[in-house]
Amino acid sequence: MSVIIDPKDLIIAPDSNQSSAIYVREQQGKYQRIRRNIAIVLMTLFAILPWLTVGGEQAILIDLTALQLHVFGATLFPQDFPIVAGFFMVAAFALFFVTTWLGRVWCGFLCPQTHWLFIFVWLEEKIEGSRNQRIKLDKQAMSLAKTTKKTLKHLSWGIVSFLTATTFLTYFVPPITLYSDLVSWQWSGLITFWVAFFAVCTYGNAGWLREKMCLHMCPYARFQSVMFDHDTYVVAYDTQRGESRGPRKRKQDPKELGLGDCIDCNLCVEVCPVGIDIRHGLQYECISCGACADACDQTMSRFNYPEKLISFTSEAQLAGGITHLFRAKIIGYAIACVLIVVAMGVYWGARVPAELSVLRDRNVLYRVNNDDLIENSFQLKILNKLPYATSFQVSAAGIDGIHVSITEPVMVQSGELTSQALTLTADPEDIKLKVTPITLTITSEGQEPVIITQESRFFSE
Ligand code: SF4
Ligand code: SF4
Repeated sequence: MSVIIDPKDLIIAPDSNQSSAIYVREQQGKYQRIRRNIAIVLMTLFAILPWLTVGGEQAILIDLTALQLHVFGATLFPQDFPIVAGFFMVAAFALFFVTTWLGRVWCGFLCPQTHWLFIFVWLEEKIEGSRNQRIKLDKQAMSLAKTTKKTLKHLSWGIVSFLTATTFLTYFVPPITLYSDLVSWQWSGLITFWVAFFAVCTYGNAGWLREKMCLHMCPYARFQSVMFDHDTYVVAYDTQRGESRGPRKRKQDPKELGLGDCIDCNLCVEVCPVGIDIRHGLQYECISCGACADACDQTMSRFNYPEKLISFTSEAQLAGGITHLFRAKIIGYAIACVLIVVAMGVYWGARVPAELSVLRDRNVLYRVNNDDLIENSFQLKILNKLPYATSFQVSAAGIDGIHVSITEPVMVQSGELTSQALTLTADPEDIKLKVTPITLTITSEGQEPVIITQESRFFSE
């Protein structure tokens, strides 16, 4: 079998005409079914996750005002940035892992851009008709029928875009608040702006930009070839089996005509959302959606030829060998994912539910007050990482009879950082050293108190 994929030499198809409109033909088939099922699961999750509550809190909420991220009962603060950074690192390495193994399946089956594009194409097809009908419609002069169809299409796109934008906003604003404010026309200017912004982005991306977003704006399309190797699965056309291509009658024997299995029906090009011809080899525009494979399988079964003239395969397999799953790169990416997850687990395990910071007054080491007692001044900062407001009692140890100026419990709201001036006072007779190590402690109220300590120093004469 001939090899048609050279991962280091991804090409731009000679006939890929990116400047003209692409009329995508809707295609049914195995890969389309897989994508649709994945879309149903992902979109259901996207829509319902903000409605779930855990312990009375929204399951997932990005509270930009309080700078908190609520994830299934856990609250993350800016200080927990390592967890968020770890999450993105795991996501990146998982993407590298999947790309090396299965090529651009993220683009074809998981990327929101692709799912929304297919939804918009589906609406287009339902309202304006099949690919040929749409081409004809666009060539027609403006008429009532054409205006009605175009209006309905853009209206349906607008509704989907608006619903997408409001659903996205429910990750930032509780859905009950967002929708009840919408019904009573009480959206603030800021909410209105962001809903309009995300709706326009969705409409523009899936309705107009479409494949141009993948071709010119998404950086992933540019560097994915670095992860490809001879065992990476890609959508590929079997040149040796397909060529020479050419039309024939169903009952004619292609061998007698000197033809391969490709009947040159052009379906694989018509269903391609990025408008390329996979028969020219692997191209960087290809998002591995498998629509051309579905279309070609359909043609092959109509002609009683074996399927998979276009299929998900590897260069190694096309060359007659086997695809190796366990490669150094893949194992390396998997190990990196596991190590980062373990590091996140360790960080989470060591995470304290409150933070105490004690800063000395840098201007004066100590003071002698009117009662001849020694005073040291500090700035006390308490961060409450608990998911509820609580009070903290402040105490100090290290010198007999040391007195703390903050005698009342300090109330700190969930996620809030409170700063208070603190003065420690001690009798010179109880101080043995010029610099005495002391321990400051905050103890939260409640049945299971949180106790946090911080070391400092007490200066005297
Ligand atoms: S060439 Fe095939 S797999 Fe690639 S984007 Fe086009 S239809 Fe999808
Ligand atoms: S769909 Fe299959 S048979 Fe038709 S042109 Fe494409 S490769 Fe050839």
